[in-house]
Amino acid sequence: MAAKARLGKTAALAPDRVAAILDALEKAYPKAVCALNHRNAWELLVATILSAQCTDVRVNLVTPALFRAFPTPKAMAAASLPELEELVRTTGFFRNKAKSIQGAGRVVTGAFGGEVPQTIEEMLRIPGAARKTANVVLGSWFGIAVGVVVDTHVLRISRRLELTKNTTPEKVEQDLMRVIPQKKWIDFSHEVIFHGRQICIARGPKCVDCTLERLCNSADKTWSSH
Ligand code: SF4
Repeated sequence: MAAKARLGKTAALAPDRVAAILDALEKAYPKAVCALNHRNAWELLVATILSAQCTDVRVNLVTPALFRAFPTPKAMAAASLPELEELVRTTGFFRNKAKSIQGAGRVVTGAFGGEVPQTIEEMLRIPGAARKTANVVLGSWFGIAVGVVVDTHVLRISRRLELTKNTTPEKVEQDLMRVIPQKKWIDFSHEVIFHGRQICIARGPKCVDCTLERLCNSADKTWSSH
């Protein structure tokens, strides 16, 4: 079924509409949290680095043995690359990822006294930690909202909901930071990632089951009530 015409920018970003989207997401996914298993900031940092181009489920299969073998930044810094490569092989891009987590261990140990830092500027000095990784760790572990995590789900759904017209994670994040209140930045990403996994999937979104359907005019809706 063809969806209604897309909204103009002003209507799409009207505060009432954005608030209704945030409200519906919060009600649908009240317990949305980061799906990467972790016990501390360091483990979340490593798991997030490993999650690039890989599912959280796969990362969760790999991290128990990795953290058993190398439980601290210092231990990871001293690990050999072949050992790390073997342990993270199934997450894909394993040579780069092994280098990144070894490098992360070295920087966290050498520059930050063994503690994962709590500012975005410091986080970005860690090998393998781009803005998304920094946002995940600062938001999910420390509760510090310095940005919005934009992964593939957040990017796709923000575009479907007309919260952005941009296509790069950096620009989409800037748009989201403008329209979403800062106190919602952390939860918004968690909720949208759940929504993207369960309902608003990449191909053939389950619009008939979607709590946001009344608010959505995406061109690729599979069902529309309006
Ligand atoms: S109505 Fe469909 S396209 Fe729109 S947010 Fe819901 S599942 Fe996604």
